[in-house]
Amino acid sequence: MAQAQKITPRAKDFSEWYGDVIMQAQLADYSPVRGCMVIRPHGYRMWELMQRALDDMIRETGHRNAYFPLFIPMSFFAKEAQHVEGFAKEVAVVTHTRLRATGKQGAEAIAVDPSSALEEPLVVRPTSETIIYAMFAKWIQSYRDLPLLLNQWANVVRWELRTRLFLRTTEFLWQEGHTAHVDEADAEREARLILGLYRRFAEEWMAMPVITGAKTESEKFAGALRTYALEALMQDNKALQAGTSHNLGQNFAKAFEVRYQTAAGGLEYVWNTSWGVTTRLIGALIMTHSDDNGLVAPPKLAPVQVAIVPIWKTDEEKQQLSAIGSRVKEDLEKAGLRVEFDARDNMKPGAKYFEWEGLGVPVRLEIGPRDLASGQVVLARRLGGKAPVPLQGVPASVTKALDEIQAALFAAARERREQNSIRGATKAQFIEFIKGRGGFAYGGFCGRGTCEAEIKQQTNATIRVLPDPEFRSKEAPKTCMWCGAPSIAEAVWAQAY
Ligand SMILES: [Zn+2]
Repeated sequence: MAQAQKITPRAKDFSEWYGDVIMQAQLADYSPVRGCMVIRPHGYRMWELMQRALDDMIRETGHRNAYFPLFIPMSFFAKEAQHVEGFAKEVAVVTHTRLRATGKQGAEAIAVDPSSALEEPLVVRPTSETIIYAMFAKWIQSYRDLPLLLNQWANVVRWELRTRLFLRTTEFLWQEGHTAHVDEADAEREARLILGLYRRFAEEWMAMPVITGAKTESEKFAGALRTYALEALMQDNKALQAGTSHNLGQNFAKAFEVRYQTAAGGLEYVWNTSWGVTTRLIGALIMTHSDDNGLVAPPKLAPVQVAIVPIWKTDEEKQQLSAIGSRVKEDLEKAGLRVEFDARDNMKPGAKYFEWEGLGVPVRLEIGPRDLASGQVVLARRLGGKAPVPLQGVPASVTKALDEIQAALFAAARERREQNSIRGATKAQFIEFIKGRGGFAYGGFCGRGTCEAEIKQQTNATIRVLPDPEFRSKEAPKTCMWCGAPSIAEAVWAQAY
């Protein structure tokens, strides 16, 4: 290694490691505003790649993008009781619209102008159900207007006390889908469709396996009838909720008078869904794949997929390799890949390797005079393995390597998850597992909130989901893992982010 190791090993301190990976890869930084992060270009590029893939999927399924105001009249929140309760403790409120000069010096030179107080304070959106459904009430008249399928890409603010880059920040970026349907069945179909769409994105793009299922009453979204979620297991064996999709029932429709005329001429409230994923996915990606050398990015979402590093000593070699390097870059770009040719003169190849590694670049091509003479380049993989490939046909070799890496990352993450899951444990085994190495614990659940609360209090574990059929154990549990009462559903517990 050309540089001293700057990253804390995972085994020593996972949380430190996570922060170090982000800093080294220049994904984000702490901002002067407490709890808010700056997403740096490398991180923002990754978000853009996620956005593009997700946006295509969202639009392919019939949704259209729109944009609603950042500010929501405070009274809107009062209309749906559970919703206001869920968000009351973490909202930013705008109360004034002007500053004025005080005539004093320094920090006191300006102050809020008391005469500019708003008649009705505005909430900075923590989520947009209220303002969107207020508009739906205006736009929906008849069953012919349904389903209404909208999506918004936006920023939201939730006043968090304990924050962590990407995982929990006061302001974050996301998409929020909002739809209206004629009946429960159609809303349910939509909520499930989106859950499947998110899963496909997590698995095919992020190479991150997820468990899907329903949230329990205590974990569902404030104001929802049912919440579905996808849960992934991070390398420290803590769960991370990667996305949610809610069947909101008619709660918001009733609060905002969103009604439609049925085909038979009656008047009915619509059924709503809402669903979202956030910049938190970048944190999930980091904690699923990265290692003690830094970021590991799945090829499909790597801001740079290939770094070409020339190895030259003489001016003549430099000239020759510059020409070849530029040509290889062009060929790779023609094949649709994101490529950098690292022709920096002030750095040794080893230092460049180290840097690209920390940035998570899946494939590096090393080109030296000797390789050139034999008509080949060296293809080095981020996770290890170096082999010469013929200079003719580099794009095919690189594309194949990227596909293999994408598949290998997913397989490794799924293998790790399964090795860190237990099924059918007794209460004692469960406690030992959760408080010990941790992971996903499957077991019977009686459905009682008291059991859930007790488990949380004693082990810090929560029910992540009541898993969908394909994730359930072969034999359905008969009794509650905790209290021994009859089980109404299998549950997956874990400590979570
Ligand atoms: Zn129980």
